[in-house]
Amino acid sequence: MNSSDQGEGSIDFEALSRKYAEERAKRLRSDAIGQYQPLTGKLSAYARDPNADPDFTRDPVRRDAEVLVIGGGFGGLLGGVRLREAGVEDIAFVDKAGDFGGTWYWNRYPGVRCDIESYIYVPLLEETGFIPTEKYAKGAEIFEHCQRIAQRWDLYKAALFQTAVQELVWNEDRQRWIVTTDRGDEIAARFVISCTGLLSSPKLPGIPGIETFAGKSFHTSRWDYGYTGGNADGAMTGLAGKKVGVIGTGSTGIQCVPPLAESAEHLYVFQRTPASVDIRGNRPTDPAWTASLTTGWQQQRSWNFTYWTSGVRQGEDMIADGWTNLLAEPTGGFGGAAGEVDPEAMQRAEMLKMGKVRQRIDSIVDDHATAESLKPWFNYFCKRPGFSDDYLQTYNRPNVTLIDTGGLGVERITPKGVVVGGREYELDLLVFATGFDFMTEYTRESGFHVTGRGGVSLDEHWVTGARTLYGIMTRGFPNFFMMSLVQSGIAINYMPIAEAQTAYIATIIANSLSGKIGSVEPSQEAEEAWVGEVLAGAPARRAFLDSCTPSYFNYEGKPPKSVESNQPYPGGAIKYLGLLDEQRAAGAMANLETTSLNQKASG
Ligand code: NDP
Repeated sequence: MNSSDQGEGSIDFEALSRKYAEERAKRLRSDAIGQYQPLTGKLSAYARDPNADPDFTRDPVRRDAEVLVIGGGFGGLLGGVRLREAGVEDIAFVDKAGDFGGTWYWNRYPGVRCDIESYIYVPLLEETGFIPTEKYAKGAEIFEHCQRIAQRWDLYKAALFQTAVQELVWNEDRQRWIVTTDRGDEIAARFVISCTGLLSSPKLPGIPGIETFAGKSFHTSRWDYGYTGGNADGAMTGLAGKKVGVIGTGSTGIQCVPPLAESAEHLYVFQRTPASVDIRGNRPTDPAWTASLTTGWQQQRSWNFTYWTSGVRQGEDMIADGWTNLLAEPTGGFGGAAGEVDPEAMQRAEMLKMGKVRQRIDSIVDDHATAESLKPWFNYFCKRPGFSDDYLQTYNRPNVTLIDTGGLGVERITPKGVVVGGREYELDLLVFATGFDFMTEYTRESGFHVTGRGGVSLDEHWVTGARTLYGIMTRGFPNFFMMSLVQSGIAINYMPIAEAQTAYIATIIANSLSGKIGSVEPSQEAEEAWVGEVLAGAPARRAFLDSCTPSYFNYEGKPPKSVESNQPYPGGAIKYLGLLDEQRAAGAMANLETTSLNQKASG
C-alpha cells in the first residue's frame, strides 16, 4: 500500500479508496454516538472542576439585565466586547467555570496549546497590544489573555461563575427572558446570547467496567495536578514510578502523550484510530516581526488563512503551516473564487497530504510494527488534523508502548487497569482523552432548556430539524442569539466566524435598545430560505462524511435523524463571513421582524 504514497503521478487513488473503506468498516459500531456517556450519574465525579473552590457559596441573585451572556469563552468575551463598544453597559455573564476562558479554562492538560497559529486564533491582539510569545501559544497564555480581555472591557463586574443556567423562559408581557440557574438566581434579561462552546461537554466511552477502575482517573479537561504534580509544562513528579494509560489519540491525546511519557515510569497509549500528525514547526515570536506590524494586520492575516484553507490562493501564504500547505500540493487549487470546493480536486489534495503524513511516520518511528500501527487511513478532513514535533518521536522511548486495538477500541476496564486483546495492562493512572459532544441536540449540549413564545420549547420547535437564520436566531424565540455550528458558517479557524457573529448580534441588540424595540426575531421567509440553503448543501457533505472513518465529525458514522438539519452552512467560510459583514454594514435589521417595547418591558 505504501507504493500509493509516492506522489501525485504514481498515486493509486482507487486502491487508497478501497483501503480507506476497509479501515472505516472495522470501526463502524451499531451504537454510534450511543457508545459515549456523559459525566453524570455514577460517572459524575469525573465532572468535578479541580480548579474551582468546591465549597463556594453565594446568595442567589435576582436582577434585571439588558443582556445576559451564557458562557465566558471566546464567543462570550467577544460578544461582551462588541456590546461594550456599541454602548451597552448592563451585561451579565453566567458560566459553569470559575473564571472567563471557556476551552482555555477547562483544558489545562500537559502540553496544551492552540493548533491554529495564535496570531490569528487569539482574538483582540491589536486592541490589547498583546502578542503571543510563540506561533502556537500555550494554553496558559491564552487563558491569561481571556482574563486580560475581561478586565480591559470590565466584564467581571456582573459575572456569575460556578453557576449553570438551567432554564430560559420567554415572558411575552415583559419582553424578557427569565433565566434561572442552579444557584437559585433569577435574571430577567431583555437579550440572551448563548455561547456555550462547540466542544465543551466532555464525554467518556461506555467501556464495560469503566466505573470499577480503582486507580486514579480523569478526563483531560479536568486534569488533576494535585495527583500528577507539575503543570501544563510537564515535570509531573507525582508520576514517578507510576504506570499511566491514555485512551484517545485525537488532538488532545497527541498533545498530552509526550509530557506524560517524560514523567511516567511507563506510558501505555491505547489507540483505536491513529491521528494524522503533521509537522508543527512552532517557534518563538520574532520581535522584529512584531515591530513591523501595522494597523489592521490581524484581520488581514486571518483573512489570508481563511482564503488559503478554503482552497483559494490569495497572494502570499502568510501563515505557511500544515493547514495552508494543503494548497502547496501539486494539485492547483481546490476552491473557487468564493471558496466553493471542487470535491475531486479536494480529494486528490487530501490523499496526497495523507501520503506525506504516512511517509513522515516511517522517517521518525524506529520500530516498524509501531510505525505501521500509527498510520492513518482516511481522508485528511475526516478528523481534525493533528500537528506535533514530538508525538511520533515519543514512541521511540523505551518507557512508551503503543497498544493498537486494531480499530476495535479498549475491550474492558477492570479495577486494576485496561484490557485489550484479552491482556490486562495494570495502571496507576488512567487518562481519558476521549473528547467532547459535538453538534448533538441543542439542549443536551448546552445543558439548559429554552422555552419561547407560547410555551414552545426549542426541542419541540426543532423536532423536525433545526430552523435558524444564519445559525444565530430562530423564529418564536425573540431576542435569543446562539453561537454554535448548527446551520452556522464553519471554518478551520473559528475566530473570524465568532468575530463576525458577535459584531452582527451586537449591532442588532444596540439597534433594538436605542430604537425602543421590544422583540426581534427572523421573518418566516428569511428563516425558511436559510434552512433551504443549508439543506440543499447537506447531500454533498453527507456523501463526504459517509465515506469517512467514524468520529465526532460524522456522529461516529451514523448521524441520528434528529440532527440531520444541524449541518453547518455549506457555502463555505468566505461566503458566510461576507454575508454577515454585508448584513451588519447595512444595519443588521434586514430579514428580521420586530415589535415595539411595551410598557411592562421598559418598566
Ligand atoms: P477526539 O474526539 O478528537 O478524540 C477522542 C479519542 O478517543 C479518539 O482517538 C477516539 O478514537 C478515542 N476513543 C474513544 N473511545 C475509545 C475507546 N472505546 N477505545 C479507545 N479509544 C477510544 O477528542 P480530542 O479531545 O482529542 O479533540 C476534540 C477536539 O477538540 C479536536 O478535534 C479539536 O477540535 C479540539 N482540540 C483542540 C486543541 C487545540 O487547539 N490545541 C487541542 C485539543 C483538542 P477514534 O478516533 O477511533 O474514535
